[in-house]
Amino acid sequence: QSHSTTSEHVQDNVQMVGGLAGIESSDLLAGVEIPKAAAYLAARELLKNLIVVSLALLIMSVIVSLFGAHVITQPPERLSGATRVVAKGQYDIQLESTSRDEIDDLAQSFNQMASELDSREKALKGAQAALVQSEKMAAFGQLGAGIAHEIKNPLAGILGLTQLSLRKIEQDSPLAKNLSIIEKETNRCTTIIQNLLRFARQEKVAFEEVEINRVVEDSMAIVEHQLEMNRVRLKKNLAPDLPLISGNANQIQQVLINLMINAQQAMEGRSGEVSLKTSNHNSRYIQIQVRDTGPGIPEDLQSKIFEPFFTTKDVGKGTGLGLSVSYGIIQDHGGDIQVKSALGKGTAFNISLPLSSLSTVCPKCNKKYKIKPDSLGRKDKCKQCGTVFKLEVT
Ligand code: ADP
Repeated sequence: QSHSTTSEHVQDNVQMVGGLAGIESSDLLAGVEIPKAAAYLAARELLKNLIVVSLALLIMSVIVSLFGAHVITQPPERLSGATRVVAKGQYDIQLESTSRDEIDDLAQSFNQMASELDSREKALKGAQAALVQSEKMAAFGQLGAGIAHEIKNPLAGILGLTQLSLRKIEQDSPLAKNLSIIEKETNRCTTIIQNLLRFARQEKVAFEEVEINRVVEDSMAIVEHQLEMNRVRLKKNLAPDLPLISGNANQIQQVLINLMINAQQAMEGRSGEVSLKTSNHNSRYIQIQVRDTGPGIPEDLQSKIFEPFFTTKDVGKGTGLGLSVSYGIIQDHGGDIQVKSALGKGTAFNISLPLSSLSTVCPKCNKKYKIKPDSLGRKDKCKQCGTVFKLEVT
């Protein structure tokens, strides 16, 4: 039976390991020894590599988990940040899409909500501004009408007496010239008062069915010469087969002439273009646009130009009543007039006027009817099938 043993010992200051074993079927023993450092070299190398690989794996897993946590938590964090921004009343915010479906869906819904809030807020602000403007105009109207009534009679007295005096004195008397000036200026005051009363809508005029393209062409014919003399070209772009509107052709003509003359005066002798366009994009209104290539109106003045007596023209050249009277006329027609202007590019006045009759259709038998704008929303019985239905524009 053979015996074997291992041993460790120090030889010449070097740690050694060795092994001793008996050789079978003899009395001999065989032994080997090598320095301990050499014997464990491979194992130590292995251990070192193992530690390095484990460390690398540990660092990598920390990085991956940090990145993962960032990817997971970032979109909800951005979403909650954006919600806080919206809560403060700033609606023009949009989130970028993420790759994860459910968070992406949430972000899309958020974006939709934010943009709807944004457009509602803008519409609300617009409506509020329009309300303030129309209330201001109504107040101006009442004030103006009150003053106009008070002044109308004394003015008529001054004019009458001036004309009487003029007839009584010699034509070449020095007083005649002064009285003529008084007569002329009193007439000018009377015109202003009439305009003011018209703006305040104290004078009712007859409405009939009006062909807008005809009114546009008539108005252009009246100012054509004056515009040409001032090197301003007139252009038109009229939509064919425009439906009729209910209104007063003379008053609408007055509005268009006023807009064209204003445009020509704004160009101050420089050459340019004034174009009139009619269209029917809407089933309830027709649109008229008067656009010029003039200097434009500064933004801060755009809300003031429709106010009575607002003018940037020299004394004697403008009364500041043209646009306010135009505004009153268009309001009387149940329409709307708005300005769009950019400095250095020009100005466009957009007018919309309601159609004189609208078309509606019976929801059951599809029979078509023409209805008046004021019967919109009422219920009526179809003459063909007897169904009672709500009158709505089709
Ligand atoms: P008036 O012509 O007597 O000044 P309006 O009410 O017609 O009165 O116009 C008010 C003001 O609006 C004008 O003084 C002018 O400053 C401005 N305006 C009107 N139309 C235009 C236009 N087409 N281009 C530039 N400014 C305009």
